[in-house]
Amino acid sequence: MTNRSISLDERLYDYLTAHSLREHPVLRELRAATATLPFSRWQISPEQGQFMALLVQLSGARRALEIGTYTGYSALAVALALPADGRLITCDIDAETTAIAAQHWQRAGVAHKVDLRLAPAADTLDALLGAGKAGTFDFAFIDADKENYRNYYECCLALLRPGGLIAVDNTLWSGRVADPANVEPDTLSLREFNALLHGDVRVSLSLVPIGDGLTLAHKL
Ligand code: CA
Repeated sequence: MTNRSISLDERLYDYLTAHSLREHPVLRELRAATATLPFSRWQISPEQGQFMALLVQLSGARRALEIGTYTGYSALAVALALPADGRLITCDIDAETTAIAAQHWQRAGVAHKVDLRLAPAADTLDALLGAGKAGTFDFAFIDADKENYRNYYECCLALLRPGGLIAVDNTLWSGRVADPANVEPDTLSLREFNALLHGDVRVSLSLVPIGDGLTLAHKL
């Protein structure tokens, strides 16, 4: 026994999912449809999707933002958790993967809740800020190009209301952030980003070791 976060071997991971997952059938279909794609590892794990859905429900979020749609699994999990009048703006630049996303949002009956913006996320975020949307969002999920995390985070923080929540994916980066010998650009970006958040007094913070590391930042 230890008071540190437990590490999950295959057997315990199977137990965890078998005893907690309540995956919507379309989420399961989307996982199957994504499994054969070249970047299927970009899809979040089902237990992370369920955790994020719980956060959306807990925070009573109605306005949500996502940076990095890919094939739409996290967007679908969030959209299913939003209330009937809830809306998610999700940003991506890939028309092919987001077409898969849109099909599944449709099939799950939540397409009306999802507003896909096919453009560089920085442009979409700037446009939202320019349109006076600062302080109007309740929830944001950042899961895109790591070198721009800092910029995405600053924009999302401005767009969030006080009390809103930002979830940032891949902050443990398969352990590479803790390996001083690893100086790949994405690793350096994430290391710098984690240090920035650790010292950011504008938020309360938790780095949750779920999936590849999910940092939660609650705007004070
Ligand atoms: Ca990710």
